[in-house]
Amino acid sequence: MILRKSLITLLLGVMVVACSTNPFTGKQTLALVPNSQILPMAFQQYDQFLSENKVVKGTADANMVKSVGQKMAAAAERYLNANGYAGYLTDYRWEYNLIESKDVNAWCMPGGKIVVYTGILPVTKTEAGLAAVMGHEVAHALANHGQQRMSAAQLQQLGAVAGNVALANNPENQQIFNTAYGLGSNLGVMLPFSRSHETEADHIGLILMAIAGYEPMAAAQLWERMQAQSQGAPPEFLSTHPASTTRIQNIKGWAASAKAEARKFGVTTFKN
Ligand SMILES: [Zn+2]
Repeated sequence: MILRKSLITLLLGVMVVACSTNPFTGKQTLALVPNSQILPMAFQQYDQFLSENKVVKGTADANMVKSVGQKMAAAAERYLNANGYAGYLTDYRWEYNLIESKDVNAWCMPGGKIVVYTGILPVTKTEAGLAAVMGHEVAHALANHGQQRMSAAQLQQLGAVAGNVALANNPENQQIFNTAYGLGSNLGVMLPFSRSHETEADHIGLILMAIAGYEPMAAAQLWERMQAQSQGAPPEFLSTHPASTTRIQNIKGWAASAKAEARKFGVTTFKN
């Protein structure tokens, strides 16, 4: 009983020091594993992924992925600076790569490491459609959703192994990281995020794409095309990102306020 009580005290203590504020929602989030541990692992895994897959270079599509990615990164920087979070992206090492693959998929690892598969381009169709997908994935990274999932896994483990709070240099961190991000044997195959994380990423992604100069309604059209694709066996991206009517309705409802946010940054035209 005493042991259990002290464990709970310990966990609460860890949670208090390990909470950080999500700059987009103002919500306190759980961050047991600091970026200083996560980012080096992410960068290493990303490089390994690139070395094992066919990276498309110099084509119009590859250039589009880079240019949209750069605009999303710049939009994130502007938004964070304006909202009192200058320096939030200091440890980010943005990279945007197009991978030759039939998979309808895209993802962003912590620290701004983005991959878009050629298989998703017929669905994203336009530059604004691509911005919608990339904005959504970047939003997951910015809001540290993967980190929260990793922290949740770690908390579970802390509960299982009472008293083991040696977080730093914990050799199990790598394994927890792999599980949280769906790495290792299934690199890039992400576990689904929770519904609330999905909604949050949709909302943040919409603001980013508007500040980057893209029409937010294009995101609703993108998800409508995704929805049309989901008949039968849904592609990879859709298995973790159901194109629900609720999702599309939410996006339509937020489009005007996303544009209003962008106007604060002097953005007045929105590319379709
Ligand atoms: Zn998502």
